[in-house]
Amino acid sequence: MNSIKFQWTFLPCFILSVLFIQPAGRCLGADKLNVLTTTSNLASIAESVGGKHVSVASIGSGDEDPHFIQAKPSFMMKARKADLWIRVGLELEIGYEGLILQGSRNPRIQINAPGHLDVSEGILKLEVPAGKIDRSMGDVHPMGNPHYWLDPYNGKIIAKNICQRLKQLDPADANDYDRNLVAFNSKLDNAMAGWVVKLKPFEHSKIVTYHRSWPYFANRFNLDVVAELEPKPGIPPGPGHILEVINTMKSEKVKIILMELFYNRDDADAVAKKTGAKVVVVPNAVNEQVKDYIAMLDNIVTQLSDALKGESK
Ligand SMILES: [Zn+2]
Repeated sequence: MNSIKFQWTFLPCFILSVLFIQPAGRCLGADKLNVLTTTSNLASIAESVGGKHVSVASIGSGDEDPHFIQAKPSFMMKARKADLWIRVGLELEIGYEGLILQGSRNPRIQINAPGHLDVSEGILKLEVPAGKIDRSMGDVHPMGNPHYWLDPYNGKIIAKNICQRLKQLDPADANDYDRNLVAFNSKLDNAMAGWVVKLKPFEHSKIVTYHRSWPYFANRFNLDVVAELEPKPGIPPGPGHILEVINTMKSEKVKIILMELFYNRDDADAVAKKTGAKVVVVPNAVNEQVKDYIAMLDNIVTQLSDALKGESK
């Protein structure tokens, strides 16, 4: 780093620190932008776009239900040091985000600060409820279904949003962020071409899912979700509803139950036994087995197309 540039940029940061006002971006003395995301998918995309200029961590591990993450003190400590907080939005994080942000006492990442990014901006939201909603409807998200990252094209919107914010916080490295975004998009496009080929033969196949988390994925690949094992979002299946699902599956000849790995599969197995269906258990986030966002989607498409292939024989 050029020493004159260093002094000039360090000075205002230093003064602001002395005044206990935190600047929006990092001080140019710091190596990397410290990025903290709510989910491991966002962490993966932030790593792709941020490259060598960011250090990224995620609150969610990728193996847990993203609706129900505990606001642990250790997360607040991590959030204290973050330059940028990235969330899915649409109230997915409503149960814990406020507690962590407040507990962090970090003004840089509070809502409406430049270090707070909601990547749902620009996403075409599905299932935005019309009219009033109340608790009797289950865990309905009033701003629309938040599981939009399962449509690969929404991955591009997420990446674009992250790129724009990184450039705002760190304009000096804007060209690198742009280049990384192009590389991420082309990798995703290549993968997408393969996924379309894999799922094309099964267009309009009927499937049942555990949670109402698949409308974006199903829309993109033209699959028809005819029922969920949960009677309402977030409400575990009961015997009456299970019986209804079994009847629907029999009359509609549904052969696939698609579910995330953190749900209890006993109910799915019981329904599968009664209907001759196959249970397909997939990750919905980056974890130890699927190391990045594209690998996660690839795992879902591959498992699902293999299962559908087996059923169509
Ligand atoms: Zn949900």
